[in-house]
Amino acid sequence: MMAYPMRTTCDKETFLRSKLAQEYFRLVEQKYLKGIPKPGPIYEFNKFGWPERLNGWRHPLLGRNEELRKYKMTIQNAVNQQNQKFTRYGDHKYAIAFIGPSMVGKTRLLEECLHITPHYIHKEKIVLTEENKVNFGGQQKIMSKGFHNWNLRSDRENFENMIRYSMDTASLKPVQIHAINVIFDCRFPLPEQFSYDGDFLKNYSVRQLLIDFFKYNFTNLWVAAILEAQYTDDESWCMLLLILESKMIFILMSITNEKQLSEVARNCLKSNMIVNMRLNGIDRWYHAALACQLLDVQAIPADLVKIIESASGGMPGWIQNFVISLIQRGVLTVVTVPRAEAVESGAIIPSPTLLQRSEADINIQPDLFPNRSSYQSMYSILSMSVVSRLDDSQHTVHDGDTLQLAVLAESNCFDDLKTDISMDAVILKTYDSLTPFEKMLLKCGSVLGEVFSRRMLLHLLQSDSNRKVAQAVSKLFSIRVLECEGGDFTRDTSPVLVHPAPTMPDAKHPYCACLGIRSPPDCQDLPMYAFCGYMKFRHTLFRTTTYELLTENQKHEMHARALLYLERYTRRCKGCGAGCFIKLLGLRSDDGLVVESEELKRTRAQICALSAEAKLSVEQSTLPLFMTDPTSLHEIQISNEQKQISSYDLLEPADRRNLNQYLLMHNNKLVRSFSSLEIGNCECMAILLAVYCQMIDHCRGADEYEKLYEAYMEYADLCVINLNIPQAIRLLFEVEEFIKSNQLNDKLEWVKDYRLANIYSLRGVCLLETGDMNEARKQLLYAMQLYCDPFPTSKHAVRFCDLRVSVNQVIALYILPNLFVARNSGFVGHFYENIAQTLNRLYRLFTESGEKANANLAAKWSLNYALRTNSNFRLLCFSYGNIIATYRQKQKFRICLKLKKRAMELCYRKRGLDAIEIHAVCHLYTNIFLFYVEYGKKLESLQFGFSVMQIMTNETDLNTRQVLILWMLKFLLSELRIHDMVSIMRDFFYMTGYYDLSSETWYYFYALVILLDTGYCVESYSTCEQFYIKKGDAILRSKTPEAAWNFLVAMWLITIRAGAWERSILWEDKIRASNMDKHDISIMILVRLVEGLIITLVNEMNNRNIKKILLLEKAIKSMFHDMNKACDHAPIYRPRVKLFYSFVARYFLLFAYYHVIRGKKQRGYSYLNKAIDLSKQAAHGTLLYWAEHTRNHWIGTLNPKFEHYWTEHIEPDNLLEYKDFDMETGKIIPYTLPLPSDLEK
Ligand SMILES: [Zn+2]
Ligand SMILES: [Zn+2]
Repeated sequence: MMAYPMRTTCDKETFLRSKLAQEYFRLVEQKYLKGIPKPGPIYEFNKFGWPERLNGWRHPLLGRNEELRKYKMTIQNAVNQQNQKFTRYGDHKYAIAFIGPSMVGKTRLLEECLHITPHYIHKEKIVLTEENKVNFGGQQKIMSKGFHNWNLRSDRENFENMIRYSMDTASLKPVQIHAINVIFDCRFPLPEQFSYDGDFLKNYSVRQLLIDFFKYNFTNLWVAAILEAQYTDDESWCMLLLILESKMIFILMSITNEKQLSEVARNCLKSNMIVNMRLNGIDRWYHAALACQLLDVQAIPADLVKIIESASGGMPGWIQNFVISLIQRGVLTVVTVPRAEAVESGAIIPSPTLLQRSEADINIQPDLFPNRSSYQSMYSILSMSVVSRLDDSQHTVHDGDTLQLAVLAESNCFDDLKTDISMDAVILKTYDSLTPFEKMLLKCGSVLGEVFSRRMLLHLLQSDSNRKVAQAVSKLFSIRVLECEGGDFTRDTSPVLVHPAPTMPDAKHPYCACLGIRSPPDCQDLPMYAFCGYMKFRHTLFRTTTYELLTENQKHEMHARALLYLERYTRRCKGCGAGCFIKLLGLRSDDGLVVESEELKRTRAQICALSAEAKLSVEQSTLPLFMTDPTSLHEIQISNEQKQISSYDLLEPADRRNLNQYLLMHNNKLVRSFSSLEIGNCECMAILLAVYCQMIDHCRGADEYEKLYEAYMEYADLCVINLNIPQAIRLLFEVEEFIKSNQLNDKLEWVKDYRLANIYSLRGVCLLETGDMNEARKQLLYAMQLYCDPFPTSKHAVRFCDLRVSVNQVIALYILPNLFVARNSGFVGHFYENIAQTLNRLYRLFTESGEKANANLAAKWSLNYALRTNSNFRLLCFSYGNIIATYRQKQKFRICLKLKKRAMELCYRKRGLDAIEIHAVCHLYTNIFLFYVEYGKKLESLQFGFSVMQIMTNETDLNTRQVLILWMLKFLLSELRIHDMVSIMRDFFYMTGYYDLSSETWYYFYALVILLDTGYCVESYSTCEQFYIKKGDAILRSKTPEAAWNFLVAMWLITIRAGAWERSILWEDKIRASNMDKHDISIMILVRLVEGLIITLVNEMNNRNIKKILLLEKAIKSMFHDMNKACDHAPIYRPRVKLFYSFVARYFLLFAYYHVIRGKKQRGYSYLNKAIDLSKQAAHGTLLYWAEHTRNHWIGTLNPKFEHYWTEHIEPDNLLEYKDFDMETGKIIPYTLPLPSDLEK
């Protein structure tokens, strides 16, 4: 963003979608952004994280000098050895494992290691969890962090791209491909019947390939810090050794519970490449200083130190918990006293160097890293040293000055602590010292969770007195039971979602970092933190202990109340009108799709008027305005449009364009654009995620099992939409356990089966998403069985079933809609909807695995079921989309039109749109778009295309996006809408930030096409050449080599047109070397090849090079033959399919040209007229200009200054900038096809 120069910034959506830890972002100040009315919050990104987030860094790390020294040595050695060809066995050390019990301080040590790592080395922190313990899971996580510039749809696509560009997958051995597929979870095709049982990591060629891969992709050594490395799976352990062998990554690990490691892991740890360091508690010399650091004081009583020394075992984590619990109990207070007094009282005052990093130390250079804290300076009670503190000068410690001293309460007696030092006891003591109201507040908090918002707390507390609550919160903050989690309430869009506020650097307890909170007038005397809006328990144990103090009844009641709050206040974000979501916990709100009786409508209106909450839902009053009678208006628009199109051909091109714009603006109502939806600012997704996450706990706590089941299913569904597949799978597993445990008390066996079927069906989608087709098929088919409606398996049965379903469909659509449509509701309705949904999922499975007959059946069948309720918008969109795709492929356009009309009626009936419904609309519109493309209706295609693009999100899969965009560009080119083209190209191909070379190649190709067809320049020839020089033949290895072929041919054609014969030979060689498959060459490539060849022929005719002339003529003839054949295949002669008109027009134009240069003028002119005719019919502006230009040239009426206009303007200093293209007149001067010199007279 230009408003924030030199900073990597992004909007909230990018921030959320990035799925990166929050510590890498920070909020920046709002600025006015040109052209963006409501940019929302802007975040700044720093891939190393923000230093101020790491609060502990203010203090030096104590007692780990030996470990840090060893780390520095090892990494120094690793850097030195990295580029050596040969590394001695003893020197090949590329990993350090810190092993020790929990609370020994491994994480802090790892962070310190990263901190002292030189700045030029890239660092990544990776936290593993139990969930990562799947085959190669840990390894993949490390790799995806390594390629940090990714944010594509899935890791797999990233890996596949990365691999495709760093090696030639075509030349790999099957075992190598197999290894890559398994290790990186890719799907490169393997030869049939390939199987491999052995351990491929032992295969030499595989090992070499992987090492080469690492060397190719990581040019410099980088450091990966893996926290909780005990969760590494066995396969990843073996991979780790290979990674270490490559000397490209230095790995730091922290391991808890060494004893529970697997055999493989233990063997790997013994490798000579890994330095093992076992951590114990820190030396007791440091205990006092550590306690001071934790308390933020400069001196503590000697009694306290003694206790710590005897009981802690040197565990920093224990010491931290202990001193904090003392503060919570009020046993420990902090006073400011003169230094002399502290000395006199016998307090221990550690040296300031142990408490505070020096400034130089913070901007650390590893070589300058000072050799801190020798034992002599430890207890320098009489220390004279003066250290200036970082924050401000008031803390400067001078001898004779004051200092902060922790004081133990008189009454305190540590005797009991010595015997029973368990944390629970400490917490209970603290708890007992609280007032009943404070206890109540804590109980409510503990029900809400580790972190909770004040709003929900107030709801549970049911206390009217603001002041009372504030006082209690203030007390709990001051004794450090609670602390601030930091919420941003300045952009408060929902009562159930809290935006995180940036962390306050160096804040001192107690504090509140929340933004946008205010204290009421009667509480001005209380500190700001008393009004903290987003709190958390300082200590997890404190929360669990408090929670357990509640009786079962109390728990039940409070969870129920919390659930009620969530149900009542879960509304769409303000941008989306703050109305109810379509579906929440199984309850559906009316979104306009249910046909209501008049009476019901009246009742509902009365309820709305009465209910105070109706005020919240603004949309209810605004949306019905949209359409009073959708069908009638719709009809009118269609008939209007048809009239206009029929007179379209009579207009001059310039008028035509104006009309196009007019039509587009005017007729856009034909497509419901759902423009009320502000995708950029919508927070509905975040709201739902936050709510479901809490709901599950509350449903369980309140024994609302029916709701629990719904919450699980809806949450899992949401996770799939959000592409968080592991989370979805985990939830489905939990809910399956829950259903099988029979807590729901389903009396009927089939109800249980029905619920299980829903679970399996959803799991099928997860597996589809991860690419495991076989398992997905099993789950989905099993689900259909449980629905008592099994999907036929034999070919014969499929045909029979298809027949039956088709008959039903005809009846439902044409004959007796009332008999089938919208007959069911309630539970039966849901049942049918779920079957339909499963069938849609099966449709996707069948299309992806190429089983046409099955896919057809699934599509038809699903629509039949979906129509039974005719009220589930998301489902209907998918069903209509699928079936339109099916009939489109069969070229049954009439039924497509019928279905499209129905689908659009549905869209118009729909009120509001949920975030989770966007994908469905996207799917539907994309399919309607593709139908119109094939049907040859340019205007309608454009309308749907634009609508889809507006609502298209990053989750739309790449293929669909590309198909859609390529078609849009073709249409826009024919309309000469260059500016629109460029903005689409930039948005979707170039600026995506994706690592996808084929998109980039398409971008350059279309830049060339604009240059070729209009003479206007988006990217100059030399820029395109630079692109090729930089990327090389890697562009040919992308998933779709089509982009590369098109690009090469376009480059070649430019050199030919410009008469740069020598250069053209270079490109010709590239084209030859690119192995274009004859069957795959698209017709557009052929047309451009023929054009180039004919121009070459003319040149050779001028040179009178007979041999070459004969050769070229032969080649051209065979190509025309090929094209002719292609025309036969393509349904161009069907009058309705205008799709191919533009191609055929181009073909005739070149055919005419070929005849003319060979002296057959008469035939040439007749073909040219045909070309003009066709381009008029296809309304293809660009071609029409070209054909008319050519005709003028031949009959001699062309203005001579235009003859070389195109070639003159591709000179680098004479380019026509596309920005100068005048949209109003839309004039272009196309290229003049040269005539042989003896013909010209
Ligand atoms: Zn706060
Ligand atoms: Zn929203």
